[in-house]
Amino acid sequence: MRRLTIAFALFLCSSSAFAQTPPDLVVVISIDQFPYYYIQRFETYFAADGFNRVLKRGANFTQSRYPYAMTYTGPGHAAIGTGHVPADSGIVANNWYERTTGTVAYCVDDARASGSHFSPLNLASDSLGDRLQERYGKSKVYGISLKDRAAILMAGRKANAAYWFDPKLPGFVSSSYYRFDKPLLDAFNATVPPFVATHTAWEQSSYIPSADLGNLTHDLPALRKWKTNPRHLDVKFPHPIENADALTYTPYGNQLVLQFAERLIDAEGLGTEDGNPDLVFVSLSSPDYLGHAFGPESLEAADTVVRTDRDLETFFHDLDAKFGSRWTLAITADHGVQSIPEVAKDMGRVAGRVDLHNSPKTAKTFADLVPQRNALEKAMAKKLGVKVTDATPIEKAFIVYFDEPAFYLNWPRIRDLKLDGERVKRVLRDAVKEIDGVSAAFTNSELLMANAAPSPLEAAVRLSFRADRSGDVLLTLKPGYIWNYNNPPTGTTHGQPVEADQHVPTMLWGNGIKPGSFDDAVAPTFLAKTLGHLLGVDAGGEETRVLPCVK
Ligand SMILES: [Zn+2]
Repeated sequence: MRRLTIAFALFLCSSSAFAQTPPDLVVVISIDQFPYYYIQRFETYFAADGFNRVLKRGANFTQSRYPYAMTYTGPGHAAIGTGHVPADSGIVANNWYERTTGTVAYCVDDARASGSHFSPLNLASDSLGDRLQERYGKSKVYGISLKDRAAILMAGRKANAAYWFDPKLPGFVSSSYYRFDKPLLDAFNATVPPFVATHTAWEQSSYIPSADLGNLTHDLPALRKWKTNPRHLDVKFPHPIENADALTYTPYGNQLVLQFAERLIDAEGLGTEDGNPDLVFVSLSSPDYLGHAFGPESLEAADTVVRTDRDLETFFHDLDAKFGSRWTLAITADHGVQSIPEVAKDMGRVAGRVDLHNSPKTAKTFADLVPQRNALEKAMAKKLGVKVTDATPIEKAFIVYFDEPAFYLNWPRIRDLKLDGERVKRVLRDAVKEIDGVSAAFTNSELLMANAAPSPLEAAVRLSFRADRSGDVLLTLKPGYIWNYNNPPTGTTHGQPVEADQHVPTMLWGNGIKPGSFDDAVAPTFLAKTLGHLLGVDAGGEETRVLPCVK
């Protein structure tokens, strides 16, 4: 009886800590590759009710940063949906090397799933959506994106469905893991070819006066050779759109996703006043696709930010018409982006590329390794007293695989040579630190040991580390430096514990949200606990807290 009383008191306590009436619909929008500096740079040119809905009438967190090191799409979307850092969500990178099988795992791989072989199988933590469905029997949870990993990892393990885009179809697809709505897909997908056909080119909009563009961008004709030129796009406006794949590299990809989200909300009857709140995660991937190719200082990136703003305004008005004040909005991003190094240098900044990418399967000897990998192998061999030359077969390399940000060692080779594995790791760590642009490197053993006072970089790497998936030696790059994969080098990327990659928007508006500009140091991982609080459930990591914008 006494225990019951305590349990009841605890129940009263915890339930009264939540907001009284939850919103009928919560919509979380993640803009893939959207650094906070885009908001600051382009705010003047926003429409009345896109981003300005949040900036002027909602809650804007000006100091929201991912606390972990590896700022990639998979880890970021898992962090948004679950409220956990990669060390706890298990999604430490987009890909990792499976030591037991010698294969490369993709973060949403699931061999058991049919249709597409993707599911949240690799996700190691509960999500906000899971908690919602446990509490309310009829709540529905969906994830939508052009990218499978974005839709799947935000929506969580108990989602009704996640939907992503197959440009070859062209249309949205799902997998047998979900109870997805085939008639809905068929009906929407019938509208995709006409949509593509009516968008024959991406022209620069006039939302930003041309007189201002020079100050907002750094897109000089002489620098355009550093943009990646996917076969379907030229490096300047107008960009022809020949097919659905090319369309995903333009801001029109956002429209496709938002239109599908509207259709899904209608078809599934989301947000109806039935006491079962619904949750929809929407990830806009096109800014990432084209951002990698053109860089954040491009005219294309500038046009994409202001066009995304208008597309969001249209989407918000549609939701207002359906739900009035019964819905809540959150906007964030999975990561930011760094400048194209050559463009950054032209602007007077320190920048560069580090190229450690794996050789193609046809590679036979050390001579086939990229120069920085070749030099690394030779430096390690010298230190370890092993003789190697350019003619040494590639099977004898110390590093069997690199996937940013980690090296996986060739353990059979280390055993054959009767070397101390810990020493080999330390030799690799120290050799890596000599590479121009590397800021820090750690062995996995170091990261597994307790450290009461790690450096800020080590602390960030620890939050991205899981022993079974992360590599043997992990490294981070200095601000301005990026991993390179293209030869000749072009384009840019993200993935580092640096301001440009970690600092992103965290914004809320609507039912239950108190407006204001907040300068508290927060993280997008706080969204799960905050939205959970509004919805009457507890979600997110213990290190996260409810954002102070909740009424
Ligand atoms: Zn990306």
